[in-house]
Amino acid sequence: MAKIFCVANQKGGVGKTTTAVNLAAGLAKVGQRVLLVDLDPQGNATMGSGIDKRALELNVYDVLLESASIAEARSRSDKLGACAYDVLGANRELAGAEVELVELERREKRLKQAIAAVDDQYDFVLIDCPPSLSMLTLNGLCSAHGVIVPMQCEYFALEGLTDLVNTIKQVHANLNRELQLIGLLRVMFDPRITLQQQVSEQLKAHFGDKVFNTVIPRNVRLAEAPSYGLPGVVFDPSSKGAQAFVAFAQEMVDRIQAMPAK
Ligand code: ADP
Ligand code: MG
Repeated sequence: MAKIFCVANQKGGVGKTTTAVNLAAGLAKVGQRVLLVDLDPQGNATMGSGIDKRALELNVYDVLLESASIAEARSRSDKLGACAYDVLGANRELAGAEVELVELERREKRLKQAIAAVDDQYDFVLIDCPPSLSMLTLNGLCSAHGVIVPMQCEYFALEGLTDLVNTIKQVHANLNRELQLIGLLRVMFDPRITLQQQVSEQLKAHFGDKVFNTVIPRNVRLAEAPSYGLPGVVFDPSSKGAQAFVAFAQEMVDRIQAMPAK
């Protein structure tokens, strides 16, 4: 049975896609079987995994509307070498799903059902959510065991977190009893900036062991990698950013092993 995690934060540009893509590659690197689901119509996780979103015959939209299975719609880039993982891609078509799903039955459970059919083929399923608390994100949250929240240690970071934590609580109470906040991941971190250190300390004081030990530094190689259609972990494995994501992948594996079996 795969462990299923959403990478979510309703703010844009906070590092969700970078986290999803590099965690997928990092987990593959340490021997895990991984499916990455792109739930953002921007398709950045798809492109950043070496898959051309414009060339997809089937994608996550077809899966949500139940006209294709994940087994039919997934793809895998041959550029990823030893870090290869499967991708259920997305493109602009997915923007329409938001409206179309509203009319349909079981609208928030579509992705969950689709994943259940391939669940035994993976150790991890990662879901890259769009920057909103929308029907797409709700499908992600209803499918998952846990949520990984990447965040920058900035002044307003804590404010946005309250809405997300409340949404997770509501989904837990009403739709998905398995859902929990797994952890907050500090990303684009620059230890030379005093404010970032202060916010980081506040986070630890508030959230304790819900803050991951691994910290992802601001690293230009991580930002360059997507234009080559590669995760940073593959693009430049020796970079500080890549090494941090491989360490984070190992931390995730260790946390899962330490979690009580249900
Ligand atoms: P989101 O998916 O939350 O919108 P992205 O992962 O696309 O955020 O990141 C936003 C921008 O920040 C991208 O240009 C990305 O390359 C860059 N970025 C993300 N993480 C880092 C990092 N650790 N160091 C440097 N740049 C980063
Ligand atoms: Mg994104």
